[in-house]
Amino acid sequence: ERLVGASADREDQAVEAALRPKDLGEFIGQEKVREQLDLVLRAARARGATADHVLLSGAPGLGKTTLSMIIAAEMGAPIRITSGPAIQHAGDLAAILSSLQEGEVLFLDEIHRMSRPAEEMLYMAMEDFRVDVIVGKGPGATAIPLELPPFTLVGATTRAGLLPPPLRDRFGFTAHMEFYEPAELQRVIHRSAGLLDVEIEPDGAAEIAGRSRGTPRIANRLLRRVRDYAQVKADGVITREIAAAALAVYEVDARGLDRLDRAVLEALLKLFGGGPVGLSTLAVAVGEERETVEEVAEPFLVREGLLARTPRGRVATPAAWAHLGLTPPRPQTS
Ligand code: ADP
Repeated sequence: ERLVGASADREDQAVEAALRPKDLGEFIGQEKVREQLDLVLRAARARGATADHVLLSGAPGLGKTTLSMIIAAEMGAPIRITSGPAIQHAGDLAAILSSLQEGEVLFLDEIHRMSRPAEEMLYMAMEDFRVDVIVGKGPGATAIPLELPPFTLVGATTRAGLLPPPLRDRFGFTAHMEFYEPAELQRVIHRSAGLLDVEIEPDGAAEIAGRSRGTPRIANRLLRRVRDYAQVKADGVITREIAAAALAVYEVDARGLDRLDRAVLEALLKLFGGGPVGLSTLAVAVGEERETVEEVAEPFLVREGLLARTPRGRVATPAAWAHLGLTPPRPQTS
């Protein structure tokens, strides 16, 4: 597991429950989403109705699960949590839907990875609060209609564009979650430090925030590693110097690049003069699989404006040279 990976590892899962904001007021950043969701939920409450279905799109670790729990809490409703890959058959979904209580929130993570038949069952459930349960097989199979209590589906996906339009259209409210600004992450870190009973200076929180790749989950994880370092090597207080020294040990640099990210950039700059170079050639130079370079390292490098994918191959940007403290070769003049 990478220290700067965005998916939850075991330790994250164990501690995240304690760090989750419990209501919209505690949820940091994402101002537009919060404001809009606040209106949707207030209106539903005032009508005494179940809230509209909500689609949350955004990268892992940005707070989709947290928001779904907040929606349930704000509606005073229970919540059921499952994911697209866990629903292989329409029957799996029927079992979940038919056991929901009135007003319950169903959080469906990675909703784009549901099986096709389950997806079609979900259309009807979302729209009419009804499913057809198929009993039997072949020509003798019959569909038994089943009424469902009104519920709120909160779907989460990394990209709304991955969803088939008929599914997307059945959500009353769609929110796109952006990566967080460093100042927002600084607040996330400050809040988490308080909950973990760790003393942290504002500069210390800022130092961790700058290395957290715009992602609260990574910010919280880096905070825990820095806390360990502060306890072992200092008096437990997280200052800027302590945070920087701790993350240097873990090879997470000032911009949040780890060893793999830097190996890719360094090969691109030092061996190929900044490119263009083909993905396979670059991967061999780094000693990694093509997929690792393409799917694990590159997305963040591209997002940071350090690397560009062009039809002729991978190219380093001027920012990449500056970040590694190297001078680009002079352009050839003829
Ligand atoms: P996702 O479901 O998008 O992968 P999570 O909701 O599990 O992300 O959030 C990951 C971690 O980040 C949780 O520990 C959560 O407490 C924290 N977190 C996410 N968003 C925020 C936020 N806006 N404010 C404070 N903490 C947050």
